[in-house]
Amino acid sequence: MYREKYDLTGKTAFVTGGGRGIGLASAMALAECGAKPIIADRDPAVLDEGLTALRRLYPAAEGIELDVTQSDAVTAAADRFNQAGGVDILVANAGISWPDTPGEEMGDDVWLKMIDINLNGCYWSCRAFGRHMLARGAGSIVTVGSMSGVISNKPQRQVHYNAAKAAVHHMTRSLAGEWADRGVRVNCVAPTYVDTAMSGRGLRTPELSKIWMENTPAHRAVTAEEIASVILFLASDAASALMGSIVLADVGYTIW
Ligand code: NDP
Repeated sequence: MYREKYDLTGKTAFVTGGGRGIGLASAMALAECGAKPIIADRDPAVLDEGLTALRRLYPAAEGIELDVTQSDAVTAAADRFNQAGGVDILVANAGISWPDTPGEEMGDDVWLKMIDINLNGCYWSCRAFGRHMLARGAGSIVTVGSMSGVISNKPQRQVHYNAAKAAVHHMTRSLAGEWADRGVRVNCVAPTYVDTAMSGRGLRTPELSKIWMENTPAHRAVTAEEIASVILFLASDAASALMGSIVLADVGYTIW
């Protein structure tokens, strides 16, 4: 009974920012449970590398070059894959977290770029794929928020990132409320520090790292695969009771 809930055979999953990191790990997890994965990323080289790895597990995996800030292109991708059989699972994962910048010094361009990718891109994706899911009366969307959407994480100086991720959390809850009685679930995973290319950028100094680990009850980061497990659960029927949930995957960081 429970094993069946994780069986995604016959389903298709679309993952934005899926060329590497959490996105690629999620595509792998979903594929391992039977879903056909389609990964989207903006850099063709990253996309190719991810697709090559994914095809070792699921030869029919597909990839598409896509910048989630381009709403027309996101809509076109959703329409294309809908015509090709439909998308059952969306992981709206694409995002950036850098540059870290003190709030009083941030330029308009830095603020706007963060909001454009992390909030607008996430919404364009949910809207475009959600429309088709609503038309079919079935679908599961997982957004990728952040622990930084819950706490301000002061040492890192990321007011733009924190604000964008908090908005992703509330967008998730709002869409979940609108779509709950129409067969489409929308949930969010909110990770702490995950050891990926993204977290290796910006001001990840040894001092910052030390503060982070001291403030974490488990004194460790999490892996992309651990986040993928949460995404897999949320995407699957095992999470049928979850609608608008923000699942903290923070190895305890927000407890203290
Ligand atoms: P990675 O940088 O490893 O992977 C993210 C991928 O998304 C990259 O290939 C990136 O490409 C791509 N991407 C960025 N912008 C766009 C865009 N406009 N359109 C399409 N693709 C894009 O990061 P992670 O795997 O660590 O992060 C994935 C998600 O998890 C993000 O939303 C992030 O905010 C969230 N997260 C990450 C945490 C961490 O500590 N790593 C903690 C909490 C949340 P490019 O290299 O060109 O930018």
